[in-house]
Amino acid sequence: MARIVQKFGGTSVANMDRIRNVACLVKKEVDAGNQVAVVLSAMSGVTNQLVAYCQDAAQLYDPCEYDAVVSTGEQVTVGLLAILLQSMGIPARSWAGWQVPIHTDDAHSRARIVNIETDQILSRMAAGEVSVVAGFQGIGPDGRVTTLGRGGSDTSAVALAAALDADRCDIYTDVDGVYTTDPRIVPKARKLPRVTYEEMLEMASLGAKVLQTRSVEMAMKYRVNLQVRSSFEDIPGTLVCDEEDIVEKEVVSGIAYSRDEAKVTLQGVKDHPGVAATIFGPLAENNINVDMIVQNVSEQGHTDLTFTLPRTDLPRALDVLEKIRTVAGYRNLTHSDTVVKVSIIGVGMRTHAGVAQKMFSTLAERGINILVISTSEIKVSVLIEEEYTELALRALHTAYGLDVH
Ligand code: ASP
Ligand code: MG
Repeated sequence: MARIVQKFGGTSVANMDRIRNVACLVKKEVDAGNQVAVVLSAMSGVTNQLVAYCQDAAQLYDPCEYDAVVSTGEQVTVGLLAILLQSMGIPARSWAGWQVPIHTDDAHSRARIVNIETDQILSRMAAGEVSVVAGFQGIGPDGRVTTLGRGGSDTSAVALAAALDADRCDIYTDVDGVYTTDPRIVPKARKLPRVTYEEMLEMASLGAKVLQTRSVEMAMKYRVNLQVRSSFEDIPGTLVCDEEDIVEKEVVSGIAYSRDEAKVTLQGVKDHPGVAATIFGPLAENNINVDMIVQNVSEQGHTDLTFTLPRTDLPRALDVLEKIRTVAGYRNLTHSDTVVKVSIIGVGMRTHAGVAQKMFSTLAERGINILVISTSEIKVSVLIEEEYTELALRALHTAYGLDVH
């Protein structure tokens, strides 16, 4: 007998038929003698609609009320699943975040879970009742409903699995696992049977949308036995695990891309101590996350500084940079939002030389210009013009031997 957490995303609970299918997948685990907690998203599209209502109501809305609105989607699905399970003779009840309770900090609309009280759920699970928990929501120190940021029900599930000390956390979604890259762009993409926490974390934060980044951070921290699988097909998914648990390691195991990028270049910046702080300080204060940065060699005391930031933050960044123009002392500003970041990821890079070089030469052979480069121990990212996304992904996928055989 095992204790497991099953999480179902929006497409898996999109309508009554899909929720009936979820009830069957839960029943399977119950019949196998397992203790089960289920975490659900809202029906697909519902949260988007709720967000749109808030935006329609006011341009600058109160984040506490936003949470009151957008957390409702999950309450519908948990109630419905509990009813369906009961009608199949399986004891079940729904739990809103505040009922568990799932305590979060007070950062409304993007709260972090600080603690989950598990006593009630554990004793009910031990008595054979399925706990159906609303994902994406919790309760803040102010006693009000909070939400965890878009895609947050993944994090709810992993946090619950960690708190319950579950044997498994199965994330059911509309894809059947984690792929080497986006199969919609690269038809030769392959499903990875296993991927390390570190690689999954990079893939999630570099643009792969299969899991919320925070959920992977949490799985890595608490060593949660995580599996990504399909609720549409009964086939093995991808196991997210420790490096030691992977026998056949690839040097590069995945290629991610993100279109959510914009590039800013400041020309003729004075090259003296403190300049970077003068520029990046005000951006940080405005919650603008600068990602890749390059500074060119200086000519006669002046230099060019190029950096990237989230595309949606570009207008705000330009506003901030305009205000600090005189103090920062740059001559000219150019920007582009038609760029994409392509990243190769693999723990094998730690021990292999020439991995980055292969990326650069592969892109060069296709005539693709690299605008900015950044690296870490297990990834290399390049910024290129958006129009070359497909070409770059396919060429790199082949170059690193990832194509399906
Ligand atoms: N329903 C929420 C969203 O769409 C949470 C989730 O699905 O993970 O962002
Ligand atoms: Mg999701």
